Amino acid sequence: MDELELLLDLHRGASRQGPGGDSEVEKAIGLAGIDRDASLKIADIGCGTGASTLTLARLLNAKIFAVDFLQDFLDALAGRAQSGGVAEKITPICASMEQLPFEDEEFDVIWSEGAIYNMGFAKGVADWNRYLKPGGLLVASEITWLTNSRPSKLHHHWNNEYPEIGAASAKIKVLEDSGYTPIGYFVLPEQCWLDNYYEPMRRSFDAFLTRNENSEEARAIVEAERREIELYEKYKAYFSYGMYIAKKRSE
Ligand code: SAM
Repeated sequence: MDELELLLDLHRGASRQGPGGDSEVEKAIGLAGIDRDASLKIADIGCGTGASTLTLARLLNAKIFAVDFLQDFLDALAGRAQSGGVAEKITPICASMEQLPFEDEEFDVIWSEGAIYNMGFAKGVADWNRYLKPGGLLVASEITWLTNSRPSKLHHHWNNEYPEIGAASAKIKVLEDSGYTPIGYFVLPEQCWLDNYYEPMRRSFDAFLTRNENSEEARAIVEAERREIELYEKYKAYFSYGMYIAKKRSE
């Protein structure tokens, strides 16, 4: 198996592929002022196996287009939607977030958790603006510095991984400069990382290694994930995902 196949094997059985939580989806819905009874059209971009998609489908009267470029994740999402009784509300779409197969002003809401960094926050919010109706809502989580100074080891690590990492004030300015009125922001709490994402992943390592005959490549993937978990545990006071909620300006 190549590295991508191994990564898919590790992550496709999981209920999420990044930090987040049902209560945080609900909190963002509240901050965005989304009417739970209104009939809405939503795109969930970089949806993975559907952590936020399924919660949105459960809570809202919405038709949700769930976009990811990995068909394996969308297949898992479709299975989960079926068993959760929300399949008729969800349309999985295999596409790149940089070339979305949508019309201008199609959506009431664009949702994206732990994914926009793949094209960069600034490019993502600017590109996706056109798909929102005037007054439509963007809800996106983005890796964010929580303090204005930090240990240099951590600073260099993130600047290497994702040079666009910044403080919430900088992300909010990007939204203001890209045709949005920011209307809410909060930080994903520790349990979104540890209880909801890293612990289930940690529990899956043994079965993953057994399935893959403890190969060198599989062990390297587990080691890389363990290093990521350690980094979070050591430096969680300095970074998290911020959840950004913004309204498309209608000028
Ligand atoms: N939103 C999910 C969650 O919170 O569990 C998944 C987050 S995961 C960290 C990022 C997701 O973005 C993955 O499912 C990955 O396949 C998807 N992705 C990465 N680059 C993409 C691209 N260029 N177009 C579409 N999806 C992409």
